[in-house]
Amino acid sequence: MPSDIVARLGAVRERIAAACRRAGRPEDAVELVAVGKGHPSGLLRAALQAGQRSLGENYAQELVAKAGALSGLGVRWHFVGGLQRNKVRKIVGLATVIQTVDDSALAVEIDRRAAALGAVQDILVQVNVAGEPQKSGVAPPDLGRLLDVIAGHGRLRCLGLMAIPPESENARPHFRALAALATAHGLRDLSMGMSQDFEVAIEEGATMVRVGSAIFGPRLGP
Ligand SMILES: *Cc1c(COP(=O)(O)O)cnc(C)c1O
Repeated sequence: MPSDIVARLGAVRERIAAACRRAGRPEDAVELVAVGKGHPSGLLRAALQAGQRSLGENYAQELVAKAGALSGLGVRWHFVGGLQRNKVRKIVGLATVIQTVDDSALAVEIDRRAAALGAVQDILVQVNVAGEPQKSGVAPPDLGRLLDVIAGHGRLRCLGLMAIPPESENARPHFRALAALATAHGLRDLSMGMSQDFEVAIEEGATMVRVGSAIFGPRLGP
């Protein structure tokens, strides 16, 4: 229900503000990205009407459809899903930030598409911070090399790092590790923390949190 969204969004904003205060960080230090995968545009519209500006999506097709339905509303779209090279065309220019760049071929493809549009694309590099075998993200030892490739492509602007730590573990050490990598590479932004752990992420320096179910409720779709 749209009215539930307003209340849940308010509660999440309160918790973000409280976590910022605990961490001695300014309350506007964290961008709340409301992840709406599997939820209809109508619910996202309710969030926008409640003052939400940043929305996240995981699937290229779904982002294109929702960006069409919600055009002209000033949404900052974040692409947070696995990105196949053949979907890059749809996403570049539409997404304000592509958070899931994890290999050089993908980076080069995004650069090429941004050049064709005369644009610069803001990106984050996704890091497989726990070294999980099946998970997306660049392995920490390969991060430097990928960042070098990105730096050599003028249509890419790397803002920082993103990670999805293993669900079953205490996320704090993984958040801390990601923050250390960002510091080591002089990167500003840290996208980390989801519904179950965004406050911990803020304490560890997150500048973007990606919150889905705490705002939109349990997912209906995939
Ligand atoms: C779905 C998703 C989220 C939001 O997850 P919740 O647990 O519902 O808050 C955040 N980040 C990514 C990459 C996701 O796929």
